Amino acid sequence: MAYFDPLPTRDERLFSKSPLSTPVLVVGLGPVGLVTALLLARQGINSTIVERHALRLGQPKAHAINARSLEILRQAGIDLDELRQKGVPVEEGDRVRFLTHLTGDEIGCLPYERQDKAVEELTPEPLFNLSQPILEQALQEEVLGTGRVTIHRSHDWQSYEYDAERQIVRSRIKQRGHNEVLEVESKFVVGADGTNSTVRSRIPGVQLEAIDDDRGLMNYVSVHCTMDLSSYTNGRVAQLYFFCSPDTRHGGFIGYKNPEWVYARPVPDITQEPLGYFTVERCKKEIKTAIGPGVLSDIKIHSVQIWSTWPRTASSYSDSHQRIFLAGDAAHTFPPMGGLGVNTGIADAHNLVWKMRFVLDGLTATPQRLLKTYTTERRPVAVANSIQSAVNEQHMRQLDAVVLETVSNMSAALPELMLQSQVKNDITTAIERNRDHFDSLGLQLGYVYNDVEASKSPQELLRKDCSLYEPSFECGARLPHAWLLQIDGVGRKASTLDLVSERKLTLFAVKFHSSWIEDLKDLVVVVDVKERRIPAAWIRAAHLSPSAALLVRPDQHIMGFIGSKEDLVECLSLCV
Ligand SMILES: Cc1cc2nc3c(=O)[nH]c(=O)nc-3n(C[C@H](O)[C@H](O)[C@H](O)COP(=O)(O)OP(=O)(O)OC[C@H]3O[C@@H](n4cnc5c(N)ncnc54)[C@H](O)[C@@H]3O)c2cc1C
Repeated sequence: MAYFDPLPTRDERLFSKSPLSTPVLVVGLGPVGLVTALLLARQGINSTIVERHALRLGQPKAHAINARSLEILRQAGIDLDELRQKGVPVEEGDRVRFLTHLTGDEIGCLPYERQDKAVEELTPEPLFNLSQPILEQALQEEVLGTGRVTIHRSHDWQSYEYDAERQIVRSRIKQRGHNEVLEVESKFVVGADGTNSTVRSRIPGVQLEAIDDDRGLMNYVSVHCTMDLSSYTNGRVAQLYFFCSPDTRHGGFIGYKNPEWVYARPVPDITQEPLGYFTVERCKKEIKTAIGPGVLSDIKIHSVQIWSTWPRTASSYSDSHQRIFLAGDAAHTFPPMGGLGVNTGIADAHNLVWKMRFVLDGLTATPQRLLKTYTTERRPVAVANSIQSAVNEQHMRQLDAVVLETVSNMSAALPELMLQSQVKNDITTAIERNRDHFDSLGLQLGYVYNDVEASKSPQELLRKDCSLYEPSFECGARLPHAWLLQIDGVGRKASTLDLVSERKLTLFAVKFHSSWIEDLKDLVVVVDVKERRIPAAWIRAAHLSPSAALLVRPDQHIMGFIGSKEDLVECLSLCV
């Protein structure tokens, strides 16, 4: 990264002096490492995070924090109302615009994801846009507040060995600026160390597998800048602007709450345009071109980054002993089209953490089997998201191609050309093809953990309609949300999802036989659906009856239907 701002100051809380021995070692202080440590702490498990770098640099990267991630953060006790205040207001963040230049003509406009009130029937926490460093800072404060996590910046995880006799992992970690290599013992290691994961590279037999061999590596430049665009948008506010002109080079602006923006564009040949090519002057020139001819603006460039994407997924998310796991970008890398990277990583952590605790606390008779489901459940989700991101990227390129071909083949300006019905039709069709790209609620909430998904080929995992989310009570689906008919103890509207225990399995029952869980109290809590004022329509849709209760995992996914104590015991023996 080329960094033009003064470096941020060092936060001493992140250079713990305490010993590094820990039940769970998390590698990487990115959003996924932080969520992993937070969820572990809420399960009562201490962890240590090691991070290679001394400072967090400010490139905003992710902006779309989707409904499922927010549901997970809600369960983890994060104050989302406060976080929303720091994000992009809905009225500024709910549109995508396609323009010739920012001050030029509008070619088309699409809604940006489901941020409307109606979506609250499907999720208690609609997506919103928030800069990744703000999310990371909030997570970090929450993590430190648990008192269960120590953070060691300037520590570079290098390799490990597994001690089969003691069933522990011995990691070798180098503290920057010191010669000696520290040895750290832990029961588990979670590699949340990003795209170029060292943890992944050290697990025998695990490699990144390409989803689409033909696509290859693509590079993008992103330029973080402060510039007040409000007087240049002509009231056409948007979260994302894409510019379709011969001189804008497929570039666009990503909003992080005006005046914070990222200018991004593909870099087709990195040998011609390496990082050093993007000087402050060069970046300003390109940004001004995107804004429009003749328009000057006060632009402050903070940093420039080139990042490479190739849709790939790790062949396995763990070692063969189920002691070392991969999560987030370490396990999968996507093109940025779709805003799925960090969101998929947060759900990885949610799936993994309760399983690790069940193993650490001896709550499962088959620890290996339970932990193996982390790969079989999460990998198909990443493959589906990866393919969808690649399809989105293709659709954007097709739109660019249609517009540029139109402009270069005809002498008139684009707005005049748009008056011709064939041109208008071609461009509108190309824009419409991108509608799914910017509305993927089905992808965000609709994935199901089961054997059928696990056995599908990548092409079969691509959804026909990634926008469509239909709540489902099938085994493996995320529990459907409904608002309870009463508010919770702290005066907020409560969701069925809020009734799911973070630490135990939850049995949603119409009529409960206490004898069912007498010996299973450490493992199962019961929710009486009538007492908790769950709406009748939800109870009917779930087909709950005195002989069919619903068993839900701590990560809010459905485990099975239970009609008797024997059913419950059988379900637990199969799934836990
Ligand atoms: C311009 C842009 C826009 C994006 N927009 C979105 C979006 O809207 N929505 C979305 O979901 N995603 C988006 N993404 C993707 C998102 O930023 C990544 O998916 C996310 O950062 C992954 O988080 P992570 O914690 O897995 O990895 P990272 O954020 O990469 O964190 C990994 C950490 O591990 C550390 N580390 C690496 N190796 C070691 C080691 N050996 N020892 C110790 N520490 C180590 C690194 O220093 C780093 O701090 C975007 C990305 C870009 C570039």
